[in-house]
Amino acid sequence: MRVQSPSGDLDIYADVIVGCDGRRSTLRDTAGLRGQDYGAPMDVLWFRLPRKGNEPEETFAIVGAGHLMILLNRTNYWQAAYVVPKGSDEELRSRPLSTLRDSVAQLAPFLAAHVAELTSWDDAKTLQVRVDRLDRWYRPGLLLIGDAAHAMSPIGGVGINLAIQDAVAAANVLAPALAAGQAIDEELLHRIQARRLPPTKLTQMLQLQIQKRVIAKVLDPAGPLPGIPAIVRFLLRFRAVRNIPARIIGYGFRREHVRTGAVRPPA
Ligand SMILES: Cc1cc2nc3c(=O)[nH]c(=O)nc-3n(C[C@H](O)[C@H](O)[C@H](O)COP(=O)(O)OP(=O)(O)OC[C@H]3O[C@@H](n4cnc5c(N)ncnc54)[C@H](O)[C@@H]3O)c2cc1C
Repeated sequence: MRVQSPSGDLDIYADVIVGCDGRRSTLRDTAGLRGQDYGAPMDVLWFRLPRKGNEPEETFAIVGAGHLMILLNRTNYWQAAYVVPKGSDEELRSRPLSTLRDSVAQLAPFLAAHVAELTSWDDAKTLQVRVDRLDRWYRPGLLLIGDAAHAMSPIGGVGINLAIQDAVAAANVLAPALAAGQAIDEELLHRIQARRLPPTKLTQMLQLQIQKRVIAKVLDPAGPLPGIPAIVRFLLRFRAVRNIPARIIGYGFRREHVRTGAVRPPA
């Protein structure tokens, strides 16, 4: 493979290249791998605001007419994820910064004292949300994993888990084959995709349902806010039921364990 590096072009010779260059993967495009784009109704503006000791402890989401903001407690600052309708970022940024400040203060009145810390639109970084999945995660000599193979929505905060689980599953298949001097053929690469495809599909299905049934409705200023069905409210009284989402988020639909044994660096 020929790559561009700060010190010029390089030729890399390898039995297999594992592409993990994220949801805007260059390797995916260059290899001509195609898939399905499932779409997302939102993008996310990330910014920080100071946090004082007497402010809430927990991480939480605040819903207002047409807005959704998630606040992550980072001890001395809040990491705020301000969710906006897909593609609306440019229009929002063309407005005075007070639009964002006022909206944040309205959603979380205790932040009114801090919003002046946002001094320019550059303080807020936009992360574009995508949900997609390649039909085929490999070609001879190339395997894509993580968001490069299946871009994950931020819902549930599980994208990193899946990317790491893909890497572990890939290592479990590739390491013994490489150690034995076996050729890395497409059958081996297919085994990795076949193992990771079901949990990826299931997770994306859940994310797409939440995007459609909750996020899209919350971001529609004219629509009613989504409610929790009575049966779900009833079931959520039981601890065992409340633990289910935590297990899915924490462990995923298929756990992976490293089975490569000790890895020795090349001589
Ligand atoms: C707004 C938003 C919020 C999210 N929040 C969460 C969360 O809280 N928790 C969670 O688990 N998931 C979250 N996700 C999903 C998560 O970010 C991804 O699923 C996860 O990061 C995928 O990991 P990855 O290693 O495949 O790709 P990435 O983490 O995107 O890593 C790809 C890496 O490749 C590098 N790269 C790309 N191109 C090149 C190149 N040409 N040359 C060299 N390097 C290159 C990039 O710099 C980057 O370091 C969020 C996603 C979005 C959009």
